[in-house]
Amino acid sequence: MKVPFLSLAMTSDSLRREIASAINDVVDRGLYILGPELEKFELEFSQFVGTKFCVGVGNGFDALHLSLRAVGVGTGDEVLVPANTYIATWLAVSACGAKPIPIEPDPNTFNINYKRLEDSITSRTAAIVPVHLYGNPASIFEIVEIARRHHLAIVEDCAQAHGATVNGKSVGSFAETGAWSFYPTKNLGALGDGGAITTNDFEIANRVRLLRNYGSKAKYYNEILGFNSRLDELQAAILRCKLNYLAEENRKRQEHADTYKYLLKESRLELPMSVDGNMHVWHQFVVKSRDREQLIQHLGIRGVETSIHYPLPPYQQEAYKVEYEANFDLPISDFLHTEVLSLPIGSHLSLDQLNYVAEGIHDFEQQS
Ligand SMILES: *Cc1c(COP(=O)(O)O)cnc(C)c1O
Repeated sequence: MKVPFLSLAMTSDSLRREIASAINDVVDRGLYILGPELEKFELEFSQFVGTKFCVGVGNGFDALHLSLRAVGVGTGDEVLVPANTYIATWLAVSACGAKPIPIEPDPNTFNINYKRLEDSITSRTAAIVPVHLYGNPASIFEIVEIARRHHLAIVEDCAQAHGATVNGKSVGSFAETGAWSFYPTKNLGALGDGGAITTNDFEIANRVRLLRNYGSKAKYYNEILGFNSRLDELQAAILRCKLNYLAEENRKRQEHADTYKYLLKESRLELPMSVDGNMHVWHQFVVKSRDREQLIQHLGIRGVETSIHYPLPPYQQEAYKVEYEANFDLPISDFLHTEVLSLPIGSHLSLDQLNYVAEGIHDFEQQS
């Protein structure tokens, strides 16, 4: 049996037909940038998240970058970020001329440990970027409370958490902005690059609208120094189709997570936790393993693909290493990066395949 970690080939015939027809409509219209599909997607996605506004942008990185600029982050500022996240979270801060300040995670939830935020706040701190890592909502109420007390903005990094909720309310609706990625592998993925910001703040929405389009509202009149980062009509049309299938995708992922938790309850692996009141959407199912490299090899020989999110934290990457190695001590994050292992999950898999993964793990543990 083969268990691919990921498969983005379209398996639903109805979705494929809907997308083909949506693409045809765009091509018939002949309008490819800043048109009606984008407007409709922005409306539908803002309704989905429960915010007043949504602004489509070119990718998740720009959703973070333009959000940070729109809330006023600039040169010399400090922004609190998780030590353990995909590097895009950090690079977006650096792109504003600001400095990412790493905060250690809670090793049980993998998310930023809000109890460690206040120790890192200085007179230069301008914002916090909590990441809802692996689809698991961060402690957003506590983070909002701390941010309000210190007059800091919050940009929620929702790139892995489409559909995740806290007490029934969607991530990306709790603070200044939510930044979303529609990279193809995400729970809601385009057939190319895409991103969006969600916000309840009219001014922020407007600023991002300017920033994404050369600082321009009226064609050939530029009010501010902007960028070019727009969600194009084809991707917007495709995302409108796929948004209707997101709940089903997330249900499958939750079923898979429950199945793994049941099948692996006797295993030596440490299984991921979800917090009461949080709806986790299982972008990744991440376990901790003491003998990760041998387990990867054992599963690989049996046709089970796994992945590591992430093999190296941002502060150990060549791009950041020199500056951060000397100045920050991050033992929890260092350690997590040696143990985390992502098992295959998602609608491309059957329960038989999950059983096969669990058998492979049990088999490995009996041998070692
Ligand atoms: C994917 C991802 C991003 C960046 O999204 P892109 O669309 O690839 O630019 C940002 N943050 C996190 C946590 C991500 O997983």
